[in-house]
Amino acid sequence: MPERKKLFGTNGVRGVVNEFLTPDFVLKMGKAIGTEMHGNIAVATDTRTSNVMLKDALIAGILSTGSSVVDLGVIPTPALQLRVKSGSFTGGVMVTASHNPPQFNGVKAIAPDGTEASKDEEDRIEDAFYRENFKVAEWNGIGMLSARHDAADSYIRAIVERVDAEAIRERKFTVVLDCSNGASVYTAPYLLEALGVRVITLNSQPQGSFPGHESEPTPENLRDLAKTVKNVGADMGIAHDGDADRAVFIDERGRYIPGELSLALIAREIIRNRKGTIAVVPVSTPSVVEEAIREFDGRTVYTRVGSPVVARKMMEVSAVIGGEENGGIINPRMQYCRDGGMAAAKMLEIVAERGPLSSLIDSLPRFYTVKLKVEIGDRNPAEILQGVRREASAVRIDETDGLKLFLDEGWVLVRPSGTEPLMRIFAESRIEKNARKYAEDHLKIVKSLLR
Ligand code: MG
Repeated sequence: MPERKKLFGTNGVRGVVNEFLTPDFVLKMGKAIGTEMHGNIAVATDTRTSNVMLKDALIAGILSTGSSVVDLGVIPTPALQLRVKSGSFTGGVMVTASHNPPQFNGVKAIAPDGTEASKDEEDRIEDAFYRENFKVAEWNGIGMLSARHDAADSYIRAIVERVDAEAIRERKFTVVLDCSNGASVYTAPYLLEALGVRVITLNSQPQGSFPGHESEPTPENLRDLAKTVKNVGADMGIAHDGDADRAVFIDERGRYIPGELSLALIAREIIRNRKGTIAVVPVSTPSVVEEAIREFDGRTVYTRVGSPVVARKMMEVSAVIGGEENGGIINPRMQYCRDGGMAAAKMLEIVAERGPLSSLIDSLPRFYTVKLKVEIGDRNPAEILQGVRREASAVRIDETDGLKLFLDEGWVLVRPSGTEPLMRIFAESRIEKNARKYAEDHLKIVKSLLR
């Protein structure tokens, strides 16, 4: 039996194609998934060059267990999730590496309710993978494969029904859209069109080599988008990552809007109309979200880092909004998962009602953040955290995920990375020099513990 290596990271299984992520590996993943999510499984991919190779291996594995497969083609992850949620599926699988470079791909499992599979579900799949105790169908019990081509259309319709489409259409917006050559090329331009938007597209042909820029929507990667928004006098720019579960915005002045600000804005405008309701975000989220919704008696509930955890907590506390600072916004009006298309449409609705985007962003409270990291090699992260707890002085300590130390004028989060041997140090204050000082002081503490 091969050595047991953790397969699922914070976002499914990821790896370099034909090195870690080979067809043989994915075939076995298919057997494990078909065994664990036994029944009828929806499968989709993003635009990566390895998509068909890996999808076909995955499907073969699933069918061999007697589970059936519906192939939805190339669509965004949230479009697959919507279909899983609304259809009679026992699970879903997305072949994607989201924002990773083009040589990567990955496999992400979707629970029957359309949310990202929980740690428990992933552990069960992983266990089946290593034990190789797969269901094996008789020759006459092999699963059926069918294909559906309507997932993009029904996804677009579902979004249009959940925003004030009339208000958006009336404004006759011009939007520059950057699909990062990823899965949103088949949905995002048509969604905007359905909302009466004049759409100018960049990187909106499906191309898994990502010729325009890599599919992470960073300020550097969106320079062309920002410039084009300004040059054509557009109302905003919208960019999606490779699998379009995220949306990142550029305001009409060509400024890149950090994800925590778009999340804070959308949260505030939703809670403006539903006063006293709840937003859920991970402990690493800047305080702008909490501050912005406080204006309307909104309450913020913090969770461990990771979008599946946020989504499940949202269900538990009946939150009206949630998300992450990377542009992943969960709007339960649509579904309990990050949804780039829904985030884009909601932002258009907000700007239609209260815009322009730049002044909405400028009306948010201002915080300064500093992020540092330090390599910890093979040192035990829990011991380092214990050391920090001993050495640091804080007004209050939150241990939801890592150590969040509340200080006089802000806070600092010391948290081990989920994927690399790193300790991350994230400090925030309303006063810029405090944020820097908090981060550097705690970096020093961690470094002293490593000696
Ligand atoms: Mg993504």
